[in-house]
Amino acid sequence: MSDTPKLDILAIAAHPDDIEITCGGLLIKYARLGKKTGALDLTRGEMGTKGDEHDRQRELAKAAEIMGLAYRHNLEMPDSAVEFTQENKYLIAQAIRDTRPELVILPHWVQRHPDHLACSRLGYDACFLAGLKKAPLAGDPHRPKKIFYVSYFRNTDYSFLVDISDEMRQKLEAVAAYTSQFGSTLSIDDLLKMGADELHARSQRERTDIFHPGVIIYDLMLTRSRALGQMVGVRYAEAYTVKEQILIDDPLSMPVKSI
Ligand SMILES: [Zn+2]
Repeated sequence: MSDTPKLDILAIAAHPDDIEITCGGLLIKYARLGKKTGALDLTRGEMGTKGDEHDRQRELAKAAEIMGLAYRHNLEMPDSAVEFTQENKYLIAQAIRDTRPELVILPHWVQRHPDHLACSRLGYDACFLAGLKKAPLAGDPHRPKKIFYVSYFRNTDYSFLVDISDEMRQKLEAVAAYTSQFGSTLSIDDLLKMGADELHARSQRERTDIFHPGVIIYDLMLTRSRALGQMVGVRYAEAYTVKEQILIDDPLSMPVKSI
């Protein structure tokens, strides 16, 4: 892949739209700062009940544009049958070598959907394999410096939160690009202005049971990111987990009051 850009950040997820919903804010934030960001989708989400392949292709291209991605690639694994195999690890490892990201974002390992769990495990192993000189892969060895696990709403063991207050609108727009999945009669302005009760009532009426049973995706995203933001004194936040320790150079400058 000679035209593949060298990335700063690569997010890897099982289905088109997972990345937008979970770590869209962080990707938008860094794209705005001039960093090269990318998305690697393992499947085309063809088991979804709504929308045909044509719709979904158009929608994910639009979402990528809204997020300012420099790269988006699909490995075309079968939806709802992503397996933890050596072959799949190498497919992902090759994409990591091709794009050489410093940071890889994976789904957290606590998951509802089996594909998300498989993606989390495959992604970790792929980061390891991509750095092995003797791995049967094209290109030079490359191991990302950091792996962030992004919250898919079930885990609560966050390591840190990222302020996405300035990115929330764009994140919602990126998700709304998937009209076949998350089409709503509401505009982004309506959504951002709605109170919790109104949003919940709307959620009950428009429930699609696509992402999380019983809620519309916008209710889930707004409620969660507001609650996370509230914990650190910002409007909206995304939660991330790392397995390694976090080193603080200047503890006195740490934001967020204890009392
Ligand atoms: Zn998914």
